[in-house]
Amino acid sequence: MSDAISQALFERARAVIPGGVNSPVRAFRAVGGNPVFIARAKGARVYGEDGAEYVDFIGSWGPALLGHAHPDVVRAVQEAAEGGLSFGAPTAREVRFAELVRSFYPHIDKLRCTSSGTEATMSAIRVARGFTRRDVIVKFEGCYHGHADHLLVKAGSGLATFGVPDSAGVPEGTARTTLTLPFNDIGALEEMFASRGAEIAAVIVEPVVGNMGCVPPAPGFLQAIVDLCRAHGALSIFDEVMTGCRLARGGAQERFGIRADLTTLGKVIGGGMPLAAYGGRDEIMSVVAPLGPVYQAGTLSGNPVAVAAGLATLERLVPELYEKLESLGASLEEGLRSAASDAGVPACVQRVGSMITLFFCEGPVHSWKEAAACDTKRFASWHAGLLSRGIYWPPSQFEAAFISAAHTEDDIARTVEAARASLKG
Ligand SMILES: *Cc1c(COP(=O)(O)O)cnc(C)c1O
Repeated sequence: MSDAISQALFERARAVIPGGVNSPVRAFRAVGGNPVFIARAKGARVYGEDGAEYVDFIGSWGPALLGHAHPDVVRAVQEAAEGGLSFGAPTAREVRFAELVRSFYPHIDKLRCTSSGTEATMSAIRVARGFTRRDVIVKFEGCYHGHADHLLVKAGSGLATFGVPDSAGVPEGTARTTLTLPFNDIGALEEMFASRGAEIAAVIVEPVVGNMGCVPPAPGFLQAIVDLCRAHGALSIFDEVMTGCRLARGGAQERFGIRADLTTLGKVIGGGMPLAAYGGRDEIMSVVAPLGPVYQAGTLSGNPVAVAAGLATLERLVPELYEKLESLGASLEEGLRSAASDAGVPACVQRVGSMITLFFCEGPVHSWKEAAACDTKRFASWHAGLLSRGIYWPPSQFEAAFISAAHTEDDIARTVEAARASLKG
């Protein structure tokens, strides 16, 4: 249960904002509680309006890789803001930003900045369609790629949480150009290409899924996507809005040694500001206006303040940071697993780097069908237990938790203790 101040604010919010929130999962509906209204955040902590302190594992749903309000990032934002908030003109900083991103993702020759991950994936799909002159998109059940019409089909987390398989307001004709397959099912993908390969413009995937809880790719799955696309003249799109710069500086593609045709980035690359990007090989990105016939634009794209936050973040992505995230992740994984096992609760802990989920089922979870079989009631009561013990965990079984470089082994130990107590009820 949230505090009295949050409850009063939530009541006011619900009168003026649909469901009281500006993005659905924030409403805590999946766990049946009310959201905590956050006043401020620093490092690995968020603070409620009533002053309560929480160890944060939501991390703004992914961006806060360095922890909240990192002094260098805040300074960069302040300095940029002094120089003007937006020009709608090219800037030196965005060139530097693009060069830096390209140095992390060597298979991205060119990239375009957008303001949200949704715009990045939507634009990457348009580019793939424009480049291949085909219409059909293949996605996987439980993968979320933002809220563009043609991607709101079997899209995990927020939608899964509310049991809305498809959104209202999406024309049937649009949804019909999107084919969905089970995640990690290479056979189903091969069959799809065998029957409709000539129509397929692109296959889009979360290389490690975060939006049905943390689900890693089966060995060979990602390579099969890239290879099948290549063989059939389609493009592979790795949606690294969540995994990009989180699982490694070069994202899941660096981690697994694989290269997609198009990559989408967001969350971490904006350092907490609205900034995302899509990019790929030169020949593909050459279809984007003003070079080519695929139109895509944005008044605030490459916004100087957002780019300053992104640059300050990217400049701090050193190897030691990922080593730290890995060891904190391993401690949390081990701690949660032993807590669940000691409590005799059927559970499985899945983690890749700093993305982690405790699923309330025997597991392992490879697909949306298996994730959906979890005991979400048990998750809800565990979540409430964590919250009451000062741990701010994602309020849905189907959202990965995030560790930041600001967390300490102490934070992890405290979290494991709270998890243990909350499993007992
Ligand atoms: C969050 C997310 C998006 C959408 O990004 P927004 O900035 O919320 O529009 C797209 N794809 C993935 C994999 C995401 O996790």
